[in-house]
Amino acid sequence: MTTIDDFNFKQKKALIRVDFNVPLDGEFNVTDTNRIEAAKPTIIKVLEDGGSAVLMSHMGRPKGQRNADMSLKHICAKVSEIIGVQIKFVDDCIGPKAEEAVAELKEGEVLLLENLRFYNEETAGDVDFAEKLSKLGDVYVNDAFGTAHRAHASTTIVAQFFPGQKCFGYLLAKEIKSIEKVMRTGEKPVLAILGGAKVSSKITIIENILDKVDHLIIGGGMTYTFIKAQGGTIGDSICEDDKMDLALSILEQAKAKNVQVHLPVDVIAANDFSNDAETQIIDVDKIPSGWQGLDAGPKTLENFKKVILESKTILWNGPIGVFEMESFAKGTISVGNFIDEATQKGAFSLVGGGDSVAAVKQFGFQDKVSYVSTGGGAMLESLEGKTLPGIAAILEG
Ligand code: AMP
Repeated sequence: MTTIDDFNFKQKKALIRVDFNVPLDGEFNVTDTNRIEAAKPTIIKVLEDGGSAVLMSHMGRPKGQRNADMSLKHICAKVSEIIGVQIKFVDDCIGPKAEEAVAELKEGEVLLLENLRFYNEETAGDVDFAEKLSKLGDVYVNDAFGTAHRAHASTTIVAQFFPGQKCFGYLLAKEIKSIEKVMRTGEKPVLAILGGAKVSSKITIIENILDKVDHLIIGGGMTYTFIKAQGGTIGDSICEDDKMDLALSILEQAKAKNVQVHLPVDVIAANDFSNDAETQIIDVDKIPSGWQGLDAGPKTLENFKKVILESKTILWNGPIGVFEMESFAKGTISVGNFIDEATQKGAFSLVGGGDSVAAVKQFGFQDKVSYVSTGGGAMLESLEGKTLPGIAAILEG
């Protein structure tokens, strides 16, 4: 795997695809700087080598139109503050203006290009547009995991114009290595904890992961499709009736592959989908009509704890209950705490994909697990076993 460490950028211009798709408030202040901070090590490496950095990113969904509200000029001050260098900005991402700004760039300087998605050609993966982008650097560095599953011009197509002169930035390399640790090289026992609302959105992940793990914990709303399929009574709990056969087939496949599946045995059931609902702890397969399971119960958490603490490699995707409501957040918080404990004992833990990252941040677990992935869709597709186009484009050499 060619990373940025394989290059010396002295007197070179690095064209770096970063993910600066950050949220702005009404006054265009950046409200979450995580993605900018995540790109910092890569940018600093280029500058310390004696090179210069040309940063390209998208922001929002301007759909091929110039849109002043989504201009990357709004984030220049914040990027300068975080990187520690006064960065320059050019209000285009291709063409003479951008090329001139790049030509004027000196060692140690950073230039930010305007929002790539002001051109439809970006998301269309247009080759001519990608070739124009390629004129803006000597080496192409991809450090945007969040868009690595898209075959866009700046994330994938542009790489073909840099034969032998392209690599992964530190962030993307870290993402790839973390996923590899779980999917291929992780120390056993390997455990996947899958939660979230629906079986249908996780099915490809479950099927792919059965070949890689020793234990599978199933939690969250997905639980009830499995329980009903096995003949349990689930009251008004969320369920995908058309996925019950699939659920049974997953359990059979798991058995055949020697994967131990751990489902909840008891739940916190509520008489309404509301934080103030009446609740009761009840066996997962005996939920009466008018009640719905919204979080894992105490016996379940004891079982989950045992499995988590025995594991050496842990993947967590999807909340264990309706964590957005305080009354049903305990399962998710507890699982976070167990993973924290396992990590302290030496396990490798990766959290990624969609709502699990939101949950981890909400409860402050991001520093307690080994790695929190920065990509929602990209992470889910990686776990599904797909080769991401942005990653393949670099690996092709
Ligand atoms: P996903 O995007 O598939 O990871 O699903 C995340 C959502 O699943 C969160 O918004 C949770 O509130 C929801 N969820 C978790 N457990 C349950 C449950 N028992 N019933 C309904 N929704 C749930």
